Amino acid sequence: MEILDDVPMELDVDRLLKKLHIDKESKNAEDIQGLIETVAPAIKPKALYEVSYIQHKNYDIVDIGGVIFKSRVLRVNLDKVERVFPYIATCGRELDEIVVPSDDLLRQFWLDSIKEMALHAMREYLANHLKERYALGQLSKMSPGSGSQDLWPIEQQRQLFSIFGNVEELIGVTLTESFLMIPIKSVSGIYFPTEIRFESCQLCPREVCRSRRAPYDKDLLASFYKDRA
Ligand code: SF4
Repeated sequence: MEILDDVPMELDVDRLLKKLHIDKESKNAEDIQGLIETVAPAIKPKALYEVSYIQHKNYDIVDIGGVIFKSRVLRVNLDKVERVFPYIATCGRELDEIVVPSDDLLRQFWLDSIKEMALHAMREYLANHLKERYALGQLSKMSPGSGSQDLWPIEQQRQLFSIFGNVEELIGVTLTESFLMIPIKSVSGIYFPTEIRFESCQLCPREVCRSRRAPYDKDLLASFYKDRA
């Protein structure tokens, strides 16, 4: 297992302002700059990952390093793969524990966006780290509960976390009874090498989603279930 907890991290202010649709010359931009300076010492995103090998596959079962996952889509995605990279990444407890007054909704929203950017940067760093360290080409990922509950049930967060042991001690992430992660700005899943990029959004029919990364593809969804192997 490898832990990435000392990641060089500089928040891209221009990108944040663009994301928030805020004019660079405005008073809000000045206030955001001030908020960033205040929280900067606490921006310490973290990640951990394991290098795991697939030991056994069935119709909708994959045994990854002795941990059993049940998902037909995961199973098909890993058809030609032997080595995978289970991971958990987070914006970090230090940043998550910063609070702003509950009546200051605008600053709360800004802070939330800063946490999101820290997590996004961490995930990019992790993907690049994996590509370089293991000489990988294109990577795709799947996460329990992502897309729709049927694809890979969120309950399997439990199995995913079991790969790493005490995740709270290692990078400060806990799993709730309802399988959500704290800090909320945390992600988990499995990276795997692919020739054709896969996004869970391709199998997700949700009509309104600001985070959609690929169009819904009904035929692709059907292709995962077309034959029993
Ligand atoms: S479309 Fe939205 S809800 Fe659906 S998988 Fe993509 S990001 Fe998640």
